[in-house]
Amino acid sequence: MDELQQKQTILIVDDSPENITVLGALLRMDYSVRVATNGEKALKIVESDNPPDLILLDVMMPGMDGYEVCRRLKADLCTQNIPVIFITAKTSEEDEVKGFNMGAVDYITKPFSPVVIKARVRTHAELKRYRDFLVNTSYCDGLTAIANRRRFDEYYAVLWNLSIREELALSLIMIDIDNFKQYNDNYGHQAGDTCLVRIAQKLSESLKRKTDLVARYGGEEFVCVLPNTGIEGAIKVAEEFRTGILSLQIPHAYSSASSYVTISQGVANISSTKDSSPEVLIMAADNALYKAKESGRNRIKAFEDEPKLKLP
Ligand code: GH3
Ligand code: MG
Ligand code: MG
Repeated sequence: MDELQQKQTILIVDDSPENITVLGALLRMDYSVRVATNGEKALKIVESDNPPDLILLDVMMPGMDGYEVCRRLKADLCTQNIPVIFITAKTSEEDEVKGFNMGAVDYITKPFSPVVIKARVRTHAELKRYRDFLVNTSYCDGLTAIANRRRFDEYYAVLWNLSIREELALSLIMIDIDNFKQYNDNYGHQAGDTCLVRIAQKLSESLKRKTDLVARYGGEEFVCVLPNTGIEGAIKVAEEFRTGILSLQIPHAYSSASSYVTISQGVANISSTKDSSPEVLIMAADNALYKAKESGRNRIKAFEDEPKLKLP
């Protein structure tokens, strides 16, 4: 369905069943409504595969309060862009300032007026829709519909800083289609485009963690960034990619590597590059990719191959 037509989802987080009933009744006509009666349940819903577009968040709740829920949402890359509206009986200016400082987009005090709730929810839901649309179009590769180079560059920069600061692992996989010029020359550019789309989709589907990202790096090259993942984990993902692409069985009679379309991959880890910078890590993965090409294609090479690592 067109993303501009789809009903948006509002998550109501409140420990009071009456509030949930009233808010739900107000919003159900225009939105798909989900509810959580405490902070922990709210975070579970938000972190699921189907996160809400907007959160109405009560501040005072037993256990984890609304401020803490908001703090966690804003600290997580996957959830920080979901707008939060606090709905609370706390009416002091100090409380409002605190709410806004935590990254809330709005602050509504109880007892609330239905008209105000509906109007503010509509405003923020529309802004969210517009933002999603812009983000999707500006971060999306026109041909393959996966993330584009810009999306990768921005995400990679954020992950790089985070990984250095928190001393976390970070791996990169550079992926290049084997003998793709031959594919285009023999099957035609349009078939080449279709092949690129299928490969991009397969790579995307193969990822299991929400924080992993695969993007079109340019031409017939893709890049995958894996936060919190060491070299062995990255090689596993690359092997998953390699077998996944082979399983598509796209005939390629002119390839030097196989009778089907294959990919070569170079893997590098943040700790394998001593004089570290984001560019050096990319160069390391590129260097490994070159070695994978040189040694026969349809294979994976890691930068600074260690003998204990078994490369397929
Ligand atoms: P190697 O195995 O060494 O990577 O060989 P290759 O032929 O894949 O590499 P080369 O860099 O010589 O050629 C890449 C080709 O990819 C050139 C171009 O025909 C094709 N290509 C790049 N972008 C696109 C695209 O958007 N659509 C199509 N159809 N082909 C593309
Ligand atoms: Mg190629
Ligand atoms: Mg290439």
